[in-house]
Amino acid sequence: MRRIGVLTSGGDAPGMNACVRAIARVAAGHGLEVVGIRDGYAGLLDGRWVPARRAELDAELSHGGTRLGTARCEAFRHPEGRARAADQLRVAGVDALVVIGGDGSMRGALALMHEHGVAVAGVPGTIDCDVLGTDETIGFDTAVGRGVEAIDRLRDTAESHHRVFIVEVMGRHSGAIAMAVGVAGGAEAIVTPEWPTDVSALSTYLLRELAEGGSAVVVVGEGDSSGGAAALASQLRALMPSADMRVTVLGHVQRGGAPSPRDRILAARLGADVVLGLVAGERGFMTGMWHGDVRRVPIAQVACGNQEPAERLADLARALALLM
Ligand code: ADP
Repeated sequence: MRRIGVLTSGGDAPGMNACVRAIARVAAGHGLEVVGIRDGYAGLLDGRWVPARRAELDAELSHGGTRLGTARCEAFRHPEGRARAADQLRVAGVDALVVIGGDGSMRGALALMHEHGVAVAGVPGTIDCDVLGTDETIGFDTAVGRGVEAIDRLRDTAESHHRVFIVEVMGRHSGAIAMAVGVAGGAEAIVTPEWPTDVSALSTYLLRELAEGGSAVVVVGEGDSSGGAAALASQLRALMPSADMRVTVLGHVQRGGAPSPRDRILAARLGADVVLGLVAGERGFMTGMWHGDVRRVPIAQVACGNQEPAERLADLARALALLM
């Protein structure tokens, strides 16, 4: 093995740049060359290569997003697209491909390996923390931090005006961010996509919280069954018309900005290990975290589903707030 290609794919996540930097540095230490690929699988299909320049990678370490760019690529979902991608890798003399992304990106990598024998390795990079086979994903800690900062601010105004704030956080079909933000921010209620949203039970609970505490914060994961924060608020208003209720959707504000130290360290650990795995001759694995330690799991195991919300945190969330 001489040359490793690296791409970032799916949603951008703070810490992806730190991971690419770690990959390039550790690879250089083993006498390997790293080439970047722009805009995920879309750039791979078109052969959009970028040299991994040490000074640029160092400068991007503290930046959110991904310097390489990312994209969702429909063509790569089809066998013809993946055949083109495999050709590009062959022509460029890339011996192994590292994919930093979420579960969809891992499924794409697996297909490329199965169909064309490409040596692939994955790193979980997504704010959603919903990838099977790993307890942590790059970007989650930063996104949770942004959510908690927002809750702290909203609570000041909620308390001053005796309001209910319905705050929507990201996470797609996963309530991991909502649960972590809710627990860390002391939300009165946490609404996730994992369980049905019982609007009537929530309104009864909030009326009691308002009577006792004067204000309340509800954290809603974007994929919940009521349809998100705005839809939930309008259903709640019908049941508790006297409550002063406001909606805040954090949206992409949660994704951008400097990665937290924890995400940078995680990105470096995973990036370093993925290179070590390839150097050791392993193929078709994802490097993730398991109970505090780095471990490699077959991508085939990762690609077969999504992680359930961490039950430990769910129990804690239930003990501290109304969780649904
Ligand atoms: P994430 O990696 O964050 O879960 P997506 O699900 O959008 O994001 O996946 C990123 C990209 O991976 C897609 O745009 C597509 O190109 C590729 N991909 C996703 N699922 C598959 C699949 N089942 N087969 C092949 N490629 C896939």
